[in-house]
Amino acid sequence: MIATAPQIGPPLALLAELSYRCPLRCPYCSNPLEMTAASGEMDTGKWIDVIEQAADMGVLQIHFSGGEPTVRKDLEDMVERAETLGIYTNLITSGVLLDRGRLQGLADRGLQHIQLSFQGADEVVADRIGGLKGGHGKKLETAKLAGEIGLPLTINAVMHRQNMDDLETMIQMAVDFGAKRLEVAHVQYYGWGLRNRAALLPTRAQLEHATAIVDAARERLKGVLVFDYVVPDYYAKRPKSCMGGWGRQFLNVSPSGRVMPCHAAETIPGMEFETVTERPLLEIWQQSDAFTRFRGTGWMPEPCRSCDRRELDWGGCRCQALALTGDAAAVDPACDKSPDHERIVALATNEAAAGSDDFEYRRFGEGA
Ligand code: SF4
Ligand code: SF4
Repeated sequence: MIATAPQIGPPLALLAELSYRCPLRCPYCSNPLEMTAASGEMDTGKWIDVIEQAADMGVLQIHFSGGEPTVRKDLEDMVERAETLGIYTNLITSGVLLDRGRLQGLADRGLQHIQLSFQGADEVVADRIGGLKGGHGKKLETAKLAGEIGLPLTINAVMHRQNMDDLETMIQMAVDFGAKRLEVAHVQYYGWGLRNRAALLPTRAQLEHATAIVDAARERLKGVLVFDYVVPDYYAKRPKSCMGGWGRQFLNVSPSGRVMPCHAAETIPGMEFETVTERPLLEIWQQSDAFTRFRGTGWMPEPCRSCDRRELDWGGCRCQALALTGDAAAVDPACDKSPDHERIVALATNEAAAGSDDFEYRRFGEGA
């Protein structure tokens, strides 16, 4: 058995969360339960500095995200700077604030890809989940515009119990819009998703049905559409390799400049996140407690420590371990070797079977 604290190379990608502001209110939003509003956001100059530091570190991709990144009027400047530094740029957006002029402008300044999220295929369902009347119609327009402008498009279909019937139609929508990739992502249950789990978690039978639809479509649409499929861990025997391993491939910069290994890491109590306004990005990546605490295999408890999957899934998800056991250093309960696995799966599946459709919309925290 070998436990290592590895020397770390550069991250592959930077997730730049430009703002937590968003016109939508999805009940599974990955943003924190307590959020800071516009006043806490870094200005253009600071973000450009972050992009330049990322380029110096060897980051290859920047994903502009949020909240809704297009609320920032300076997004174009950031895209252009990243592009001139040779970094691949992707915009992760709800699409509801984009029109032809803005999208064309972003493409002209160097944007290389757009990832557009959908809350459903049916307007009534999608607008209810997103909490914005007319939002779905706007997204359809943006998807069409992306095709007309020639921006490569990925559709992100976020799935849960309340929109499962839309899956076939969402797959066809992606084909009709000429998307090259479709991410069918079941809600992940931490933060807002965990708070609304009873209203969102599918039953095992529903999940199996969705998986069969994706498997069949993947076969049928070979060469037309690439599928990414993300399932809720509750029905798996082994956890996913969350973020490709803690502090191994990705870094996340929040609107106010806090640097984190993933967007949910803020939920971990007692973990200090340093900011790019106070310390260089490279030092935070290599040396900060937030990045080194769960990097590699040295931190792992048994049975992970001596498991032959420890460098495949890197022990699963720390935020999920925290959410479900109260201890971020525990074995991820999604793994059936976890002492908590049976109890937690039973709890969640009972909830799914009995769940109501009522959920709480994402909102800014008090005082924000
Ligand atoms: S998940 Fe919904 S509410 Fe959260 S940032 Fe995305 S579009 Fe906005
Ligand atoms: S015991 Fe740990 S390393 Fe092994 S499969 Fe489970 S979570 Fe992964």
